[in-house]
Amino acid sequence: MPLDTKSYAVPVARSAAALRDAVAEWRREGRTVALVPTMGALHDGHLSLVDLGREKADRVIVSIFVNPTQFAPHEDFSAYPRTEAADAARLEGKAHLIFAPDAADMYPQGFSTTISLTGVTEPLEGTFRPTHFAGVATVVAKLILRAMPDVAIFGEKDWQQLMVIRRMVADLDIPVEILGGAIMREADGLAMSSRNVYLSPDERKAAGQLNVILRETAAHVAKGARISDATAEGARRVLALGFDKIDYLEIRDSGSLVAYPDDRPTSSARILVAAKIGKTRLIDNMPV
Ligand code: AMP
Repeated sequence: MPLDTKSYAVPVARSAAALRDAVAEWRREGRTVALVPTMGALHDGHLSLVDLGREKADRVIVSIFVNPTQFAPHEDFSAYPRTEAADAARLEGKAHLIFAPDAADMYPQGFSTTISLTGVTEPLEGTFRPTHFAGVATVVAKLILRAMPDVAIFGEKDWQQLMVIRRMVADLDIPVEILGGAIMREADGLAMSSRNVYLSPDERKAAGQLNVILRETAAHVAKGARISDATAEGARRVLALGFDKIDYLEIRDSGSLVAYPDDRPTSSARILVAAKIGKTRLIDNMPV
């Protein structure tokens, strides 16, 4: 399948071969390449990663692929917003190529390989979405090996994912630099997310307080409160907002994501939350 240069202003590769040809041409011209993996429904958080890509490399590829293997059967794979034409319009003048394969191209008949990590995948998201990171690691490895970029860029919004990908790339000697981009937020501080469109007006209002509670909880701990006391109080406040369930609200070592055994942070700490409101699951995090 050749490059699609007709559908949108930004050319689209829909197969590994079309992607490789485009990258090979850039390499012949001596250009460096950045890859920004996404599932589409692009917002300003994604675009900030694309901007970072243009700072770090001559050419930026944005992949758009709603990866089925990182969703559990009860999760929102079929409801996940798919807005390719709008995404392409948002990328005009920002990205040089869209890579939008279909599932049969990524996972042809007989596909049998899964990359699964221990350690950093296990706590937090791993407890509640036990198959999620194997799906993420496998698809990200494939995207990187297909594009062979100099840098691949991920958002700090998915902090644990960023740690998982750094670990995988180090463990498998994949020759790519992994960069994290800062979390982009709405005016009230809600972390931008493709899933925010699921929120009703009331849920949206409550969701905007999640980051405030995180910040105040982190501040308590920074001032000397015990982690368990501060996070229990934070969880109570999140539920009082009208959230239905908190999967976790924890302060962990930001690199390894292990808990602090003596209930006091000793080095770089991060507060991480996943909570459900209505049918929407939101995640957020920030440094302590
Ligand atoms: P997604 O399309 O949700 O899988 O996200 C694609 C990439 O964008 C991931 O690396 C996310 O961490 C990143 N991302 C999502 N939301 C934000 C945000 N609000 N700020 C920065 N990066 C984000």
